[in-house]
Amino acid sequence: MGMRVEDRRVLIAGGGPVGLLSAWLLGRQGIPVRLFDVNAAPQADPRAATTHPATLDLLADDGLADDMARVGLVAPIFQFWDRPSAEKVAEFDHAILKGETDHPFVVQCEQFKTAKLILERARKLPNVELLYSHEVVDIAQTSDTVSVDVRGPDGIKTHSGAYLIGADGGRSVVRKQAGIAFDGFTWPERFIVLTTPFDFEASSGYCYRSYFADPDEWCNCFKVSADGPPGLWRTVYPTNPELSETELMSDASVQARMQKFFPASRPYEIVHRNLYVTHQRVAETFHKGRVLLAGDSAHINNPIGGMGLNGGIQDAANLAEKLAKVLLDKAPDALLDLYSLQRRTVATEFVQEQSIANKKRLEAKDPETRKRNLDELREIAADPARAKQFLLRTSMVASQRRVAAMALTEA
Ligand SMILES: Cc1cc2nc3c(=O)[nH]c(=O)nc-3n(C[C@H](O)[C@H](O)[C@H](O)COP(=O)(O)OP(=O)(O)OC[C@H]3O[C@@H](n4cnc5c(N)ncnc54)[C@H](O)[C@@H]3O)c2cc1C
Repeated sequence: MGMRVEDRRVLIAGGGPVGLLSAWLLGRQGIPVRLFDVNAAPQADPRAATTHPATLDLLADDGLADDMARVGLVAPIFQFWDRPSAEKVAEFDHAILKGETDHPFVVQCEQFKTAKLILERARKLPNVELLYSHEVVDIAQTSDTVSVDVRGPDGIKTHSGAYLIGADGGRSVVRKQAGIAFDGFTWPERFIVLTTPFDFEASSGYCYRSYFADPDEWCNCFKVSADGPPGLWRTVYPTNPELSETELMSDASVQARMQKFFPASRPYEIVHRNLYVTHQRVAETFHKGRVLLAGDSAHINNPIGGMGLNGGIQDAANLAEKLAKVLLDKAPDALLDLYSLQRRTVATEFVQEQSIANKKRLEAKDPETRKRNLDELREIAADPARAKQFLLRTSMVASQRRVAAMALTEA
């Protein structure tokens, strides 16, 4: 007798890029998938854009990474600047990673575009059901099955499956209902993102990914392709925790911040302004019984270095491969513990550590520490061997190698 569909079905809470990628990767292998998202339709979310080489390597199948490069921007270079002196301190070119990755460059592709490209692929699979306007409100599991209560247009209904992936973001209901702790801390300052068509490359030679160290107000400046040439520039700054959202987001405050960053003869055109609370947290486990966590539900970090979604995509690829082995080849459930071990280790050892270090390097106030930080960046950039090691880490190739080494150790 064949298995019932619900005995093989994977339920997914959340249709952000991580949930959608999980759905597509599992669906491609013939596994029945049912995904729920609380929103009525995919959101034009202005958060992640930077997609690192190690992640692009995972997305090469079916031309996905190529499509991301086509709708986004290829950014081989990133720069560090000293904001007070306006000096370019260091420049790094991913070309040095040729032979280490198939994608020796970053692709700046806004996360809603990445999600859309995955969605187009997932929609072609008859075994993948994508249910929008469906909110997961409760979960329950036994040793054999997992179920979710979902509030949809027709009220609350229960859906059952073999496994549940919580890809429902930082405030994950799945993580909370499964009783999985999310330890870490919240930064007191919120980050403000101001997006403008002003061309910082033409005006001042900033490349598509530029980081500015400053004892008072660090900044990140990035280009995204938006709706096509000429594209938009996103500037990211810390904000004063004592000021209210209204004060921080007012036209006067936004213009003053932009003029301080880069004085211009006219007011800036601001097309988006967003304020984010940022955290550093990792779930105590990514696997509890029939519940698995991936993406922001499992780990969140500040966006300096652009690693949050990259980590989530790497989770989804790792998890889909293992879940398929469990569901299709009867591999032991312990394989899912390996998923948790691998991905949790790199979330902690690499992404948390690196994103906190990135922030500290940009915001350092003590003149001695600043000088040491900037001198170190200059020295690394001037030494090809050190620059390569540095880029292997920032591009997340090193963390993927750590994951692969753990698989060998555990095998
Ligand atoms: C300013 C900023 C810049 C960033 N830049 C980068 C970057 O350059 N590179 C990078 O790698 N990362 C970056 N990040 C991080 C990145 O945005 C997140 O890591 C990413 O969105 C995580 O994707 P996700 O699919 O896990 O979660 P989300 O994108 O949060 O998606 C979760 C989905 O779940 C749905 N949902 C939530 N609750 C429920 C429920 N109960 N039932 C059903 N559906 C539910 C939501 O509607 C949403 O669609 C940045 C973050 C910020 C704030």
